[in-house]
Amino acid sequence: MTAKNYSRRDFIAKSSLLGAGIAVAPHVFSSTLAIGSKPAILGGRGIWADKQWPKWPRWVPETDEKKLLEVVRSGIWSRASVTAEFESEWARTLGAKRCLSVVNGTNALITALSQFHIGAGDEVIVPPYTFIASVTSVLLNGAMPVFVDIDPETFQIDPTKIEAKITSRTKAIMPVHILGLPVDMDRIMAIAKKYNLFVIEDACQAHLAEYNHKKVGTIGHAGCFSFQNSKNLPIGEGGAVVSNDDQFIDRCFSYHNLGIPYGTAVGTVSSGSVIMGTKVRFTEYQAAIGLAMLKRLDAETTTRNENAAYLSSLLQQIPGIVPYKLYDKVTRAAFHLYPFRFMKEAFGGLTRTSFIKAMRAEGVPCSSGYTLLTDKPYLNDAFQSAAFKAIYPPEMLDFDAYVAANRCPKNEQLCNEEAVWLTQNMLLGPRTDMDEIAGAISRIHKNAASIAKLHG
Ligand SMILES: *Cc1c(COP(=O)(O)O)cnc(C)c1O
Repeated sequence: MTAKNYSRRDFIAKSSLLGAGIAVAPHVFSSTLAIGSKPAILGGRGIWADKQWPKWPRWVPETDEKKLLEVVRSGIWSRASVTAEFESEWARTLGAKRCLSVVNGTNALITALSQFHIGAGDEVIVPPYTFIASVTSVLLNGAMPVFVDIDPETFQIDPTKIEAKITSRTKAIMPVHILGLPVDMDRIMAIAKKYNLFVIEDACQAHLAEYNHKKVGTIGHAGCFSFQNSKNLPIGEGGAVVSNDDQFIDRCFSYHNLGIPYGTAVGTVSSGSVIMGTKVRFTEYQAAIGLAMLKRLDAETTTRNENAAYLSSLLQQIPGIVPYKLYDKVTRAAFHLYPFRFMKEAFGGLTRTSFIKAMRAEGVPCSSGYTLLTDKPYLNDAFQSAAFKAIYPPEMLDFDAYVAANRCPKNEQLCNEEAVWLTQNMLLGPRTDMDEIAGAISRIHKNAASIAKLHG
C-alpha cells in the first residue's frame, strides 16, 4: 500500500493499535508508511530512514562569529576580559554569586573537591549511574568514592539510601543531576546538614535545570558544569565551578592558576604561589564561543522541556515503555538526554539490544546509555597506587570486598536491562518529530514478537 491510497479507515484501524486515547497526529501515519507495515529490521523501509535530526552543536555565523573573530584576531588568547565576561554571565544566568571557568567539567569537579579540602582518607557519596568523571574526580583527590544506588523511576541517586552509607570518613555528597534531570535536592541538603557534609553538585548535564525554582548547581556548596561538545551549552571543551562562597571560589581561582594568590587566597601576586595549584585555565576563544551559545540556551531549554513532556504523553501509552519521572519540586529539567525504560516482557521478550537495533533501522537513533562503573579496573588501579596504600588500611583496598559492598542492584537493572536514551538534539525539532519517535516505537511494539523470533 502506498502513502496515497492509505485511507482514513486504515489509519483509524492501525492507530488504534497504539492503545486507547493516544494523541498521535494523523500525519505520522498518513505521510509515509503505516505502523502496521513491516519494520525496517525485518526488511521493511525505515519509517524515518531519510530523516535529518537537528544537528549539534548549532553554529549560526551571522550571530555567533563576531566576537570569536575579534578574539582570534586580537592575539589575546589566554584568559582575560572575555573569559571574565563569560564567567559573570554564567553566574548571573544561574543566580550564583561567583563562577570560575576551567578547561572542562572533569577539572571543575577536581578543583571543587580539592578546595573544600576533600582528599586523603575521606569518603564521598556518589551515584553509580553517571559519567566516569564524577567518580575519578574523587579518586584523583585521594578520596574514596562510596556508591549509593539510584531510584530507577527518576534515574537519580536515591536519598533514602544515603544515610546507611555514611561513616566517620564521609566528607561530602556529590549529587549528579544525571541526564539533566534534577536530584531531589531538599532531601540531600537535609542529610548534608544533619551530618555536616559538603554538597558538590555535578550539574555537568543540567544547564538551567531547576529544583524549586532554583537553578541546580546553586543549591549545594558548589556546582560544576561541563561545556563539552555534546553538552547543552557546547564549547568543544570547557567547564565551570559556581558557588556563593567567595573564599572558596578565590581558592579555586588560585588552584586553577598555579596556586598564585587571588582575592582572599592571600599572598601578594609577586610573592609566588601560596597553594599547591595546577593550571586549568579557560581561553578567550572558548569564552567567545560560550557567550554565543549562551544566547540560545534558554529558548532551547524551553523547547526541550515542551517536546519531552509531549513525547512522554505519547510514550506512556505504549505498553512496556516507561518514561523518566521528575521529583515534585522540579520546576524545569535540562534534558541533556531523554530517558525511558524498556520492559521486555511487554515486547514479547524482545531484548533491549534488538529494540535499539530496530529503532536505528527505522531511522530513530537511540542507545542503552551507561554501563556499570562500580566494578571496573580503574578503581583497583587507584587502590593499588602507592598513595592509596599509604592512606587507607588494607581492608579498604580489597577490590572484591569493595565491589561487593558497593553493588547497586537498581543501577544494574537500568544499565544492563532497561535504560534507553535519546539525545538532547532530537528534542530541538518540531513537535511532529516526537510523533515520529512514538510512531517508530509503536511499530516495533506491534511487531515485537516477530522481531524477537529473528533477532532475540
Ligand atoms: C560531561 C560530564 C562530566 C565531565 O565533563 P567534561 O567536560 O567532559 O570533562 C562530569 N560529569 C558528568 C555527569 C558529565 O556528563
